Amino acid sequence: MTQKATTVYQSDPAMSRNKLRRSLILGENGYSCGKSCLMVKCKPASRKAFSRAQRIKQVEQEGKVIIEKLELGPFASNCYIVGAESNPEAIIIDPGAEANEILKKVEDLGLEIKFIMLTHGHVDHVGALKEVKEATDAEVAIHADDAESLQKKPFSTMFGLSYPSPPPPDRLLKGGDSIDVGDLHFLVLHTPGHTSGGICLMGEGVLFSGDTLFNFGIGRFDLPGGSGRQLMNSIHTKLMILPDNTVVYPGHGPETTIGTERQGNPFLRS
Ligand SMILES: [Zn+2]
Ligand SMILES: [Zn+2]
Repeated sequence: MTQKATTVYQSDPAMSRNKLRRSLILGENGYSCGKSCLMVKCKPASRKAFSRAQRIKQVEQEGKVIIEKLELGPFASNCYIVGAESNPEAIIIDPGAEANEILKKVEDLGLEIKFIMLTHGHVDHVGALKEVKEATDAEVAIHADDAESLQKKPFSTMFGLSYPSPPPPDRLLKGGDSIDVGDLHFLVLHTPGHTSGGICLMGEGVLFSGDTLFNFGIGRFDLPGGSGRQLMNSIHTKLMILPDNTVVYPGHGPETTIGTERQGNPFLRS
């Protein structure tokens, strides 16, 4: 990475150990959800686990970085608001549903959203895009290969969901692009397999993995545009080369680390 791409993420060793321990504990049970989830071979579980009342909300403040996780909508999709204490400029990753909740949190945190980053074009990650875009006037960025799905919305009918049509994206991403927001810098990793235009977003020490890699799971690859061979190639060549202590924030379920997945993810064993 160039000097410009150096991030300001600062990890507190104690926090990292706690987080790792929590990941390991959660990993024992794995992440599970209803049969229509977008993860491959997850355990059967009750929807109740992700009811509104039980929704996990989490604010993590590690040094200069704020990572707010909101678990939203019928697919319990993770939306992340990422900013820095040193600068109000921030990003939203995957506004999947419940725009009001996302916007309220942004306001509470006093952040100014510059980019709405989409890890891919599935409805459970873009359902609140139109409202969030209109309210923030932030630039919408998605990989070029998933951009069409914003307009065609092929998955909304498949999963019986409807949502307002978003405007065309402002920026088409490709692997290797860097996103600079305030004091934060991110690198776009193109990780096709769950969808052809799926991306992961990397900052120093953190990875937002969309539906490519989960806590003890991987993304489904049987949907249109999916490919198991591509998915495994993406995970092995783009993600498993990252340091063990990289904290992974997936599109569904709890966070994990690259090291935890390298050791224990049953789908990564050859
Ligand atoms: Zn998803
Ligand atoms: Zn998906």
